[in-house]
Amino acid sequence: MKVKALRGMQDLLPEKQAIFRHITSRVGELLDTYGYRQIGLPLLESTHLFARLVGDSTEVVQKQMYTFEDKSGDDVTLRPEGTAGCVRAALEHGLTFNQVQRLWYAGPMFRYERPQKGRYRQFEQIGCECFGMAGPDIDAEMLLMLHRIWTSLGVTDDVNLELNTLGDTAARKRYSDALVDYFSPKSDQLDDDGRRLLKTNPLRILDSKHEGTKALLPDVPTLTTFVDDEARTHFDELRRNLDQMQVPYVVNPRIVRGLDYYNRTVFEWTTDTLGSQGTVCGGGRYDRLVEELGGRSAPAVGFAMGLDRLALMLENKFVPPAEADVFIVSEQVARPQALVVAEKLRNWRTGLRVVTHCGDGKFKSQFKKADASGAQVAVIIGESEIQAGTVTVKPLRGQSDQQTVNESDMADLLAQCLE
Ligand code: ATP
Ligand code: MG
Repeated sequence: MKVKALRGMQDLLPEKQAIFRHITSRVGELLDTYGYRQIGLPLLESTHLFARLVGDSTEVVQKQMYTFEDKSGDDVTLRPEGTAGCVRAALEHGLTFNQVQRLWYAGPMFRYERPQKGRYRQFEQIGCECFGMAGPDIDAEMLLMLHRIWTSLGVTDDVNLELNTLGDTAARKRYSDALVDYFSPKSDQLDDDGRRLLKTNPLRILDSKHEGTKALLPDVPTLTTFVDDEARTHFDELRRNLDQMQVPYVVNPRIVRGLDYYNRTVFEWTTDTLGSQGTVCGGGRYDRLVEELGGRSAPAVGFAMGLDRLALMLENKFVPPAEADVFIVSEQVARPQALVVAEKLRNWRTGLRVVTHCGDGKFKSQFKKADASGAQVAVIIGESEIQAGTVTVKPLRGQSDQQTVNESDMADLLAQCLE
């Protein structure tokens, strides 16, 4: 029997992996320019952490976690999201104590859900978490930064920012009660999940993907009227900031987010280009979470973007770099010299992609490989070149002829061919 990858687990072949690498390096560079510092976090955490922080009643915790007992009998879970682990780490190392932090992390998350295009059981996220800043200015800066990230990736025109405020605890409670009043008489039109949420977390019904439930949403009471003055002012200030910085957005009172821990600002960047897997980035404020985990209260705001969905958006836009800039073709007897020349070229120009033919192969088949590698130029080293201390440089893409030059003149000639 052939062994295949598990359902929902992807192999990222080199072309696809190149897109992920492109996104990660672009985004990482931009985060640097806003003073975010990268943090590395474990993939495996105590199950209790997610149950407590993400919320017992959420779909993620109820249905989607890869949870198991390890060999010492501890109840552990492959992280389904990054915020809980980041808050845990920040507390464990005293990072939220009397200081502000702008942190980011990248890596795989695991959720047992129904795989489809843009939805996998292992997927990549880049996440940011900021601690110690309560004002709307950091929320605004974060959204401005995301706007710049989309511009840098070339997808600004394909994404929209949807923004909402959840208010604070009391407002959420009042709104939850209003939702119970609204949905209870219509509970036969909800699915099982919806009926369960009606008892545990009514707000989350608004996030449902069930058609019958969605049909009830147009008349649902809006959260806006329940939000208290302080949260309202925070939100208005955020909006004013965004207007001033010319970051476009729409207010969507139905954005509630899938995880329990949010308050005040919540947002999603969505796209029409990916069918139903339309959210590429989501986040918001979670001012109570640090305290929830036993720390001294510290305001916090963060987001996570899904790299798999961004990669799908870039598939037709991103041209991966060629495997090689220079391909070294050599006779067997000249192989040691070929390896030496290749090293010299890598020293000569940082980042130059140099591929040396290894193994058997006539010149003809080596040139086929050189062509397929995308290289601009081949450097040929045979017995005669070794004896004369020369190399032959052959442009692969233009009309110009090959030239044999002293090895010391190779770099100058290559510089012309590579322009
Ligand atoms: P959705 O509503 O699509 O299930 P979510 O609200 O569960 O998304 P978050 O927990 O906010 O997602 O995660 C942030 C981002 O991570 C999402 O906007 C999405 O881009 C990405 N993401 C979440 N789940 C998956 C998945 N199973 N496969 C691929 N990407 C995902
Ligand atoms: Mg989800």
